[in-house]
Amino acid sequence: MNLVIFGPQGAGKGTQGKMISEKYGIPSISTGDIFRWAIAEGSDLGNQVRDHVEAGELVPDDLTIRVIAERLGAEDCSGGFLLDGFPRNLRQAEALDEILKARHKDLDAAIVLEVPQDVALDRLVGRAKTEGRKDDAHEDAVRRRLETYYQQTEPLKHHYAERGLLRAVDGLGAPDDVFARIAAVL
Ligand code: AMP
Repeated sequence: MNLVIFGPQGAGKGTQGKMISEKYGIPSISTGDIFRWAIAEGSDLGNQVRDHVEAGELVPDDLTIRVIAERLGAEDCSGGFLLDGFPRNLRQAEALDEILKARHKDLDAAIVLEVPQDVALDRLVGRAKTEGRKDDAHEDAVRRRLETYYQQTEPLKHHYAERGLLRAVDGLGAPDDVFARIAAVL
């Protein structure tokens, strides 16, 4: 199964991504994780993305698209994949369509996890405190990331609805309950 999951930061995408990946036996690919690992390693990629990630703004599309195109070419994606955190805007969504077309693949579904904006903000600020995530460290950056989501990512609902791929799932409640809703629409 070839899947995309999106939703505001703090909606529980990471948790659900892991559960989907286990149930369907597909790798969960998070661009945020790829960037954070690269920063921690101090690799070239890490140096290119650090300032953007720490400021809570999007990494430039060209770079992000290159990273994901390469990752989707890896052997473990041949039986399917779940993309968590990509695409983040229309340009990335169109690039993904092209990448998949070139590989004679199609998306099976785009899951959007819906939670109210204030819930997402509370969860994100809480996560910053417990995990000490650098890009979460300032509430300003958190707010900026959420604003970016509503301006650039949420409109992807339209892109995927037009293609009959959108699956909107209520993200409120216990992780197992949310997962049951996702499994029901796949
Ligand atoms: P995330 O863990 O998905 O919230 O991603 C953390 C940070 O990585 C984001 O705030 C962005 O700076 C960067 N990032 C992750 N995915 C993307 C993407 N698809 N496009 C641009 N930047 C991204």
